[in-house]
Amino acid sequence: MRLPDDVVQCATCGVEYDARRLPGACPICADERQYLPADGVQRWTRPLEHDEDIEVVELEEGLHALRCADGVGIGQEAKVLVVDAGAVMVDVPAAITEEAVQAVRALGPVRAIIPSHPHMFGLQSLWSRALGDVPVWIAREDAAWLGRTPENLRLWEGTQEVLPRVVAAQLGGHFPGSAVVHGEGADGAGVLLTGDTIAPNPDGRTVAFMRSYPNRIPLSGPVALRVAEGAAAFGFERLYGNFAGAILVDARASVLASAARHAAWASGEHDDLTGSAGLA
Ligand SMILES: [Zn+2]
Ligand SMILES: [Zn+2]
Repeated sequence: MRLPDDVVQCATCGVEYDARRLPGACPICADERQYLPADGVQRWTRPLEHDEDIEVVELEEGLHALRCADGVGIGQEAKVLVVDAGAVMVDVPAAITEEAVQAVRALGPVRAIIPSHPHMFGLQSLWSRALGDVPVWIAREDAAWLGRTPENLRLWEGTQEVLPRVVAAQLGGHFPGSAVVHGEGADGAGVLLTGDTIAPNPDGRTVAFMRSYPNRIPLSGPVALRVAEGAAAFGFERLYGNFAGAILVDARASVLASAARHAAWASGEHDDLTGSAGLA
């Protein structure tokens, strides 16, 4: 496929940049929520320089994940949610191939692209163009992280219906503009796509609320509770995060209980369980 030659992407996070205005280091990776390579050297690449294979995986009827099989980017999983009015891409792969574009088109006409936060910008302007100049919805509070401005950029804040009955909500926390997207599954149950705003844990029953996942920087208890309460304004049975994790049963209750647990630990309520070493 033909791509514009002014697109460069960070080799670590996979986010696209304008080659004419390339920063010394990728601001997203230099930030404390991400990381530069261990040798501290910024590397750039061009889309298609890496021979990428993008898997399209059905998570449930009407919801698919796009996984970059060769590991470009930070291992994120874009989602494509299909509803009666069309499809929405939530988070964006850090690669693009003609095969993957055709596979996504076959799922339904994509009407909106909405990354949950800057780590998930990926190759959003290329995907927008390939899918027919689809609007790219960016939370206004996070727009300063754009290294390349999509031609069909739409800024939003608060809550935004990106398609009928598909609503994005800016809950903040991980980034000020961090969002979740609520829609309905084919069975009519609520489905919440959470990016890194709310992260399903490996136990499949609880979730985490973090400023940084790779560097393990927690949010405060009050912010975890605020994010959970914002999510709980929606009804949802299932929740899908950024890295293949999911809560498939009673996810809304899981979010509320997990935030309460987070807040209790962060406040020192369970310090008696941490041993007596060093205590006065
Ligand atoms: Zn980067
Ligand atoms: Zn993130």
